[in-house]
Formats: sequence, C-alpha cells, structure tokens
Amino acid sequence: MLNEYFGKILWIDLSNGSFKEDVLPEEIYRQYLGGYGLAAKLIYDNLPAKADPLGSEAILGFFPGLLTGTVAPLSGRYMIAGKSPLTGTWGDANSGGFFGPEIKKCGYDGILIQGIAATPKYITIIDDEVKILDASEVWGLDAVETEDKLKEKHGKVQVACIGQSSEKLSLISGIVNDKGRIAARSGFGAVMGSKKLKAIVLKGNKKIQLSNKDLLLSHTKDYNNKIAATSGGMVSIFKTYGTTAGNVFSGSSGDTPIKNWAGNLKDDFPTERLNKISAGEIDKFKEKDFGCFSCPVRCGAIMKIPELNIEETHRPEYETCAAFGPLLLNDDLMSIFTLNEICNRAGLDTISAGGTVAFAIECFENGLINKDDTDGLELTWGNSQEIIKLVNMIINREGIGDILADGCKRASEKIGKGSEKYAITSLGQELGMHDSKFMSSLGLSFAFDPTPGRHTTSSIDMVAMGPLARNDLIEGFILPKNFRKMGDERFEAHMLVNSLSQFSNSLGLCMFSSMFLKYPLIELIKAATGWDISIEELIKIGLRIQTLRQAFTIREGVILAENELPGRAIGDPPFESGPHQGKTIDYKSDYQGFCEKIGWNPKNGYPLKETLIDLNLDFVIKDLY
Ligand code: SF4
Repeated sequence: MLNEYFGKILWIDLSNGSFKEDVLPEEIYRQYLGGYGLAAKLIYDNLPAKADPLGSEAILGFFPGLLTGTVAPLSGRYMIAGKSPLTGTWGDANSGGFFGPEIKKCGYDGILIQGIAATPKYITIIDDEVKILDASEVWGLDAVETEDKLKEKHGKVQVACIGQSSEKLSLISGIVNDKGRIAARSGFGAVMGSKKLKAIVLKGNKKIQLSNKDLLLSHTKDYNNKIAATSGGMVSIFKTYGTTAGNVFSGSSGDTPIKNWAGNLKDDFPTERLNKISAGEIDKFKEKDFGCFSCPVRCGAIMKIPELNIEETHRPEYETCAAFGPLLLNDDLMSIFTLNEICNRAGLDTISAGGTVAFAIECFENGLINKDDTDGLELTWGNSQEIIKLVNMIINREGIGDILADGCKRASEKIGKGSEKYAITSLGQELGMHDSKFMSSLGLSFAFDPTPGRHTTSSIDMVAMGPLARNDLIEGFILPKNFRKMGDERFEAHMLVNSLSQFSNSLGLCMFSSMFLKYPLIELIKAATGWDISIEELIKIGLRIQTLRQAFTIREGVILAENELPGRAIGDPPFESGPHQGKTIDYKSDYQGFCEKIGWNPKNGYPLKETLIDLNLDFVIKDLY
C-alpha cells in the first residue's frame, strides 16, 4: 500500500518550459530520508559527470527534510543541492524560515530545476498549478524588494529568490527566503542566476498525512514544554541572543579568526573593541523574536535601526559579525548592520564576502594592489566605510569588485604576485568563522568534507558542546568515552558525528538541535512515517549519504584526500603568540583514521567496493573503479 506520508518529486526544465512529476518508491526514502540525502541520490543519478555547474545540464535541487512541514521541533529546514560552482565538488546549503515547509504543502518532497530560460523567469506553484512566468518586473531588484513585489502580486505565498549578486553570477552568492534567511554557501545563487530563474513562489494546500498524528503531537508537546521550562544554558542563550552570543564568547576564547586568520585578540582586537560588537550591544536594536517554522527556541530576531533608517532587518548571525568584525579588525557595529543588510538583500554569502574583503585588505596593506586598483578605496584594517563601499562594488561587480565577486581564491589567481597566501579557503570556499586551531575537528570538515570549508558539517568538538557530550542527545546514540583524545575512539566518534550530521540534515533538523535537550528522534520519525526505524539504521543511512556525497565529488575529478588547508588555519608554522601559540593541528591523521572507520581508502578517500556494496551504493562502483 502507498505510504501517504510521501509526496512527489517535481522536475522543471527551464530550457523548454516543461515539467513532470515523479513518485519515488518508499524504499528510496528509507535509504536517503529527504533533504540533501534524497537530493544526493537524485542528482547523482541524473547529472552527467563533470557537467558545467552554470550550464544547461546543471541541476539545482530544493529539498525539505523528511520531517519538514510537520510540527516536529526544529525540523523546518530545507536544503539546496547540486554541483557547487565555487568548489567543483558536491554542494549543499541550508536555510530555515518558512519556505521549506511550503514545498511539502505543495505536495512535493523535492523540486529539481534543469535547463536555462531564454529570458528571466520565476516559477509559481500555487494551489496545485505549476507555472513559469516572466520575471522582467522583478529582475534587477534585491531579495527583499523581490519578495515584497511577488507577495503583492500573488498574495500569501512563500518565496525563495536571488538578489543582484546572483544575477551577476557571483560564485559567493546564495538563495534568499523570508527576506534575509539565506542558503548562502556553495555558490548556488550563481546557479539560479545562470538559469535566469529569479524566484520560486509557493502556496500549498496539501495536508501532510502523518502515520500517527497524536503520537507526533505528544512528543512535540513534551519537548517544547521542556524547552519552555528550561532556564539557563544554551536554550536561554539562544532564545535571548541567538548566535550573536558567540561574538564575545568565541572572540575571547580563540574560536573567532582575527585579522584574516593571522591575528589574535590581545595584539589585534582587544576586549574593549570586541565588546563593541557584543550580543548585548546588538540586543538594543531588537524589536521582536524570529523563529523558523516549528521551532520552540526561536533564535532569530527582527531589528529596527533608526540610525541607519532601517525599519526592519534580520539580526546578523555570529558568522556575519565575525566575518565583518574581528576578521577585518572592524569594531564599528553600525557598519556590520549595514553589511548584513546589503548582503542579505543582494544574496551575498557574508562568510565568503568577509573572507574576500580580508584578502583584499591584506593585498592592499602589503602593496599587491593600490588605490589605482581599488578606484581610490583606502583598504586598511578596520576602515569600515571603505569596507562597505568595497562590498557594494562586489555586489555590483564594479571595478575590483568584479575580480572579488567569485571569492578570494579566484581573485588571487587574477591578482597573482603571491597573493594566494592571503586567500583563506578550502578549494575556493572561504572557511567558516571558527578557528580549526581552537576546535581541531573543524580541520577535518574544512579540508575533507565533500562541501569543503564549512563549519556546519559534523565537527565532533562543536556537537559535543551539547547533550551529546553526556551521550544524552538521542536514545542509543553513544560516543566512545575517549573521543576527545587522538586515537581509535576519536576516529570512531568522527564517523558517528559525521553520520549524525547527514541524517539530521536530511531529516530537516536545525544543526542547533544538538545543542539543546535530548531529542525524541526515533519516536518522531516513527510517528510521521510509520517506520519502525532503529538508531543503527539511521547511522547507516547517514554513512550512506556521506559516502554518496563523497563519490559525487570523486566523480567530478576532485580528490579531497589531497586537499590542504592554508597554514594559518592549522598553525603551520605555529603562531608565536596568542591562544594558539605553538599549536599545529594534525587534521590529516584525523582523516586517515576517519577513512578507516567509515570504509574509505585512507590514501585517496575512495569508498572501498565492499563499503559501497554494504551501503547499497553498488551503482557507484562503475564510476569509481
Ligand atoms: S534554533 Fe534558530 S536557526 Fe534553528 S530552527 Fe530555531 S530559529 Fe531556526
């Protein structure tokens, strides 16, 4: 009998304006869940190897997680997936808000876009009808203006769209929903721009058919009540300040990269400067809370900033504050608000934008570029007004902004003169704003995850800040005792946390779900789908998804095992002062141990044949061997 929990998959070809629906066997969901797990399977099967990520063959997937659209706590995320034009590897990016659940309400578990439109278009899926419409009215507008205009026209809809950066094919641009929540990483804004697709507009009328609604509601209520009753700890911190709580905590502990990863707090960005961008300072502008669909924590906020004539804007996240703050030695909070706003509107990834500006400043400070190259900009550390002008130039691809709009690695290839040493990326993606010398497992994710450079992909040190450290996150999910010490137990933990990251993402869970309370995961999956699933099966699903992302990347010709991180990120040579003095992280040994555990060849990262067979990934063997 058909399991009515599952919807359909919608394929849209913009080259000829056609679309079709597919129904997948339940077995595929059971193997890949939803989100980027399901996307990995469908895109691996349908995208020719080495296709141009900005070409007609490229596939751009929008996938809600398996639990997205239900009221299961913290499950409202959706993922964008495909081949990253920034890194040439598998790519995915994640966003919250309300767009993901609306995909489900339209009756779809995934929307896959192929082809290139002849002229700018947007897609509407409203009350069961799919249309591809002329976008000339909104092309050229920023993401907030676009959403407003499309809501004016279509009523109460959910919108994911691109801003000017993506129209101009910036490889560090993303896709925006809810006027400032962005699936920012991997460069998918450029993919959407290359397809001349301005927006997807959704209004669904379908009810998700839960296997056991009462059970799902009772587990949800129980969890949400516990969140409401919790005072103190991560729950309170996130409810009050969101991720900006990290501005001072991470900045003062050595977690935040300072001065393009070469500085330290004491010498370069002392506490009095750090305090100017603290969560408390930012909180003064908060108007109300913002939370994603089905989230009892609501870590976001909407702010009003009269000094900048901004009536309504999303509070900047920690990553944005760090990338435009300590990374650039900038303590001008108003400039950080401005940069957050212009990047959100243009659809520019703030991590990559900050990393690229840091690169440009270092080039300027060291004489590799001068005022003739920058159209007169004085690109010195902390020069906030010049930084704003530069980011505007990047958004509009003006002057040197055109060179910088594809991230600092590509810019360094154009500038030359040894500038590559200032480009702090992994395979072209600027590293997330957490220092791998502070949390060494980030070295593993930054270097070797199939979406390199990301701080959100399975760092044991990060996940172990929450209940997982006490083995109290998910019933039956147990980390080895000595996971903090280098050796076999740590490698085992890397593998387990890697799997956790894959299955959580594919279920649509927010990554912060691991920070709060024990989560009734197995129960919620069962209540939603009717599956009698075990934690062992979920762990295996996670490993399957990670192995398929890895295989995709290898099929593209990228051997992640050979990737090297910039010396500044790993302490090579070791820093002479500051919290990381004398420290070099051994991320390569970590990877070898991880490969052995997961069943990949430690020399080149190729999944072993027997691993592929064991994970039901036999179809990959012909591509890798
Ligand atoms: S914790 Fe924050 S980011 Fe995560 S789902 Fe809730 S509101 Fe969204």
